[in-house]
Amino acid sequence: MARRVKCPYCETYLDKDDAIPYKKRYYHQHCFDTWKMEAEHRKELIKYICELYKIDAPTGMMLKQIKEFQEEYKYKLKGIELALRYFHETLGNPVRKGDGLGIVPFIYEEAKADYLQKKAIKESVEKAKKHKPKERIVVIKKQNRKNIKIVDISTL
Ligand SMILES: [Zn+2]
Repeated sequence: MARRVKCPYCETYLDKDDAIPYKKRYYHQHCFDTWKMEAEHRKELIKYICELYKIDAPTGMMLKQIKEFQEEYKYKLKGIELALRYFHETLGNPVRKGDGLGIVPFIYEEAKADYLQKKAIKESVEKAKKHKPKERIVVIKKQNRKNIKIVDISTL
């Protein structure tokens, strides 16, 4: 019988044979992927905050706020970063020393809508780009056919 292990991410049990081992702990595949992605997003958010406020590490208050956003508001780490980017980069609000991340809940939904809109525009532009080369191929083929015709006439 396979040994049962507890996934540290979702805290449910699974067979050790099916688990992803990492640093002596055993994860579900999807839990491991999610956990890895969140760790990556957390790193990116912290890096952005440090750049924004020109600090070496986020303050205790900021870390407390991030935790609160995740637990109480169910915000995603990437979403928090996007909300901050939206407030400071898109809307052009200056960074004020001593400010925490308290603005995030006030602009999170707006930032999300803005992000989704930009993404949709980008996707439709890319879609349009993808369709163009096909049209070009058709044109080239037509030209080739013309050339063939000319050659045929001259050999008559
Ligand atoms: Zn799990």
